[in-house]
Amino acid sequence: MSGTVYLVGAGPGAPDLITLRAARLIEAAEIVFHDALVHPDTVALATRAEKIAVGKRCGAHSTAQRFINKRLIDAAGKHASVVRLKGGDPMLFGRAQEEIDALTAAGIRVEIVPGVTAAQAASADLGVSLTRRGISRSVAFATPRVGSEEQPSEWAASLAHVDTAVLYMAAHQARQVAATLMGLGRRGDSPVAIVESASLESKQSYITLGELARQGLEPGTGPTILMFGEVFRAAMSAARLQRRSPTSGSWRQLAGNLAQTR
Ligand code: SAH
Repeated sequence: MSGTVYLVGAGPGAPDLITLRAARLIEAAEIVFHDALVHPDTVALATRAEKIAVGKRCGAHSTAQRFINKRLIDAAGKHASVVRLKGGDPMLFGRAQEEIDALTAAGIRVEIVPGVTAAQAASADLGVSLTRRGISRSVAFATPRVGSEEQPSEWAASLAHVDTAVLYMAAHQARQVAATLMGLGRRGDSPVAIVESASLESKQSYITLGELARQGLEPGTGPTILMFGEVFRAAMSAARLQRRSPTSGSWRQLAGNLAQTR
């Protein structure tokens, strides 16, 4: 017998930001392997299943990928329905392909259930669209992070001309990242949005690329995403105005006013 392994997107954090399909599969699963970033309430949807945490927290101990692959293969030999729960969307920076390839090579059926990725949750929290007529018609999802056996790739080159860039797993090396982007010709006054724990506590701030290159980022406790591009300019200006006179209304109102007066 061989069961099906479902690679399921658990969304960015808030437990109600998952798809109906994901919730149904989690409820029906016999065994669930989940990443550390998945909210406990989401894992708790698996009322029938044995639940196994398999690491993946930046900097912390994590289960080796090859070992996870093996456990998934073994589980599919014993259970009809195996759920592999991954933060955000499983197909973005989630090492999904390694699991898909290992399972497929072992003759196991794999199905993917997409999830809301961190970029989408951060954009929603900020109230700033990643695309915008006349300002941004391209968005790149990128990461500066390379695995231990990998060569540092030319990760930044593709960001020299993109309108809006979203950087995953970049907060710990924010200063170098910003310097690299400026070296590619990105302007020091480019607005950068920083969102920690999007869809949950969601701490948001704005900084320019030049400031980021000079001062870096204080590491937060939650997962953090960096986004940059002209789409954030109005919100950054409004946030700065508000910092100077905190009684002058919400930044969303101010951003609206600024956009209208352009
Ligand atoms: N597959 C996931 C990404 C996994 S990589 C997805 O689609 O979202 C992990 C990185 O995602 C973190 O280092 C951080 O940059 C980002 N991230 C994940 N959840 C986040 C959240 N709630 N808020 C901000 N960034 C988040």
